[in-house]
Amino acid sequence: MPSLRALPAFHDNYIWMLADTGARTALVVDPGAAQPVLDALERDGLTLSALLLTHHHADHIGGVAELASQFPGATIFAPHDERIPLAHRRVAHGDAAQIDSPVARFEVLEVHGHTRSHIAYYGEGLLFCGDTLFSLGCGRLFEGTPAQMLASLDRLAALPGNTQVCCGHEYTLANATFALTVEPDNAALLTRTAHARAQRARGEPTLPARLADECAANPFLRVDAIPDAQIPWSAQANRSRREDRFAALRTAKDNFRA
Ligand code: ZN
Ligand code: FE
Repeated sequence: MPSLRALPAFHDNYIWMLADTGARTALVVDPGAAQPVLDALERDGLTLSALLLTHHHADHIGGVAELASQFPGATIFAPHDERIPLAHRRVAHGDAAQIDSPVARFEVLEVHGHTRSHIAYYGEGLLFCGDTLFSLGCGRLFEGTPAQMLASLDRLAALPGNTQVCCGHEYTLANATFALTVEPDNAALLTRTAHARAQRARGEPTLPARLADECAANPFLRVDAIPDAQIPWSAQANRSRREDRFAALRTAKDNFRA
């Protein structure tokens, strides 16, 4: 049974590691830095077998070159994007990333919006979604439209409710502050926020999050559930358009200062 770990990197990134301590192998997702991965591998005597990359931002791929040189046998999976060098396997929606050790198989999901080539990996009950879905939030729209991001989030929300959501950043409490302005009386959101506060107070990650809990509490997965009067509409919004509901939430979050 592989074990999952969130390796902290930089200010608030997580590098996800899935290790088979019996076989002494591990895969990592989005190693923005090499050192946290090298430390974790050394501590448990593990060899790196695969790297899964979700998008080209430096805080997600910055450690790839160093890890590839130290572990030349490791397979690097990445989306079709020339801004990500060194990939062995370019994968797109519907492809699978099959890893021999730890034994794992992930389905590749296209989740454009944060960037124009962002992908997610779903398998083994886990979702590695990079900067697309955060707990109680979602990624910023750097290279995509609200409609694209909404389609990506719809795709992730359709996965089984017990999926463990492994996000790229520890943003949960900051996201909760905004989410509570939209749905101050959402019981699932209040519960999730209290739980996340306790986790942070103990110095623990708030992740992974259970997808069903996110669907109940995360405003960006609740575009259809939030009452009209609670959507922070902008003047130019077309209130009958679903993507405008999402865009209103995303824009309000962009401009939000706690
Ligand atoms: Zn990013
Ligand atoms: Fe990031």
